[in-house]
Amino acid sequence: MSRSYFIRTYGCQMNEHDTERIAGLLEADGMASADDMESADVVVLNTCCIRENADNKLYGQLGHLKRLKQARPDMQIAVAGCLAQKDRGLIRERADHVDVVFGTHNVYRAAELIGAAAGGPIVEILEEAAEDDRSSFPSALPVRRDAPYAAWVTIQVGCDNSCAFCIVPSVRGAEISRPMDLLVSEVAALAADGVTEVTLLGQNVNSYGRDLQKGRRQAGERVSLRPLFADLLRAVGAVDGIERVRFTSPHPKDLRPETIEAMAEVPAVCEHLHLPLQSGSDRVLAAMHRGYTAERYLERLRAVRDAVDDLAVSTDIIVGFPGETEDDFEQTLMVAAEAGYDSAFTFVFSPRPGTEAADMVGQYCDPDEVRDRFDRLRAVVERSSRRGNQARIGRREVVVVEGPSKRDPGVLTGRTRQNRLVHFPSAQKLRPGTFAAVDVTESGVHHLRGEMAEVIAQPRWRTRIPVAAL
Ligand code: SF4
Repeated sequence: MSRSYFIRTYGCQMNEHDTERIAGLLEADGMASADDMESADVVVLNTCCIRENADNKLYGQLGHLKRLKQARPDMQIAVAGCLAQKDRGLIRERADHVDVVFGTHNVYRAAELIGAAAGGPIVEILEEAAEDDRSSFPSALPVRRDAPYAAWVTIQVGCDNSCAFCIVPSVRGAEISRPMDLLVSEVAALAADGVTEVTLLGQNVNSYGRDLQKGRRQAGERVSLRPLFADLLRAVGAVDGIERVRFTSPHPKDLRPETIEAMAEVPAVCEHLHLPLQSGSDRVLAAMHRGYTAERYLERLRAVRDAVDDLAVSTDIIVGFPGETEDDFEQTLMVAAEAGYDSAFTFVFSPRPGTEAADMVGQYCDPDEVRDRFDRLRAVVERSSRRGNQARIGRREVVVVEGPSKRDPGVLTGRTRQNRLVHFPSAQKLRPGTFAAVDVTESGVHHLRGEMAEVIAQPRWRTRIPVAAL
């Protein structure tokens, strides 16, 4: 009987993408996926240190796993991801029932390490990615994708910026871009496999290619400023069979005119921009080392809106960054109102150990004030997102079906090019990835409702897993 595995993922899309690859590696090694951690032979916790209370959540989960392991000593427990990269040996000091700890630079060794840990616990953390494609990029590894019609493609790992609140540069390292020809071949292989939608992933997608140029310049070559992210958008958008291209996240300071032109000109690139604001106060933006002012941010956003019809915009905003005053916060409210976001991930500042902001203890804001600011910001964002959704009533939207709604299996959920969720009843069982036209009849803050008008195209995917990307 093959062994089974279960992976719990914390955090961002990068981590979810890494999880797909860990699953792909374990399946390529002969394991099968388990329904829950209680029945799995191998449990992998893919951790994130960006979210609040990451340590508490991890050690709480490990406490639960300790009891399971006492009952089933053959069970193996692995801790991966950024918290593993940051805490290293500390994890086994606090939880000695963990069999394997591996970091963000050796995801590709997941199956080997778990196999080898049968002989005793292993902690393997690399300082940086080895210089080969397989080591640096999860996309170059086998995959077990959850959605057969959509795929994430990592175009870049690491980050060269130094935002005061962010741990990414220290756990993911400097920016490394994956060469464009490999990315385009990967997308072509995905399209041949029936994938119609790709999301290009990176911490700062707009600076894609910068390190590739540097490398060639150092080697004495005279190089142009290419490839740019815009070139990649055009190349990926031209792949036969790819209908939707998304990307996340661009950094406002690096949003180049070429990217905006490509967004406007490449039909496959969706009319959705996720542009993290973080704060609307220039003083706070400077303390965060974001590299732009509120006016510069709004200018760039206006440029994209002018170029791309019917653009939806989302963002990330931190409330209560150390030293934020009421006046700073009101500027954030004003920028949020002017930007007219369709959705926003709003976070209350919480210090991540190892970041500059975590040391600004004397400037932490009063928690009650922060909660009040958070609610006021939510109200502003919800107003514009409700208004944006209301404006869709009476329109026919093309959605890609994701599957049955979580609340009601008789209702299907699909997503528009603008990333709006649409729920609609359907007597027909439409497979995930089906393109359908839906007439919108109702709207809420976070979703639309409608009636299906017609099926436009059936999905093209047939087989699922495991698939080697190249
Ligand atoms: S741009 Fe800033 S917030 Fe984003 S990953 Fe880099 S350091 Fe972190």
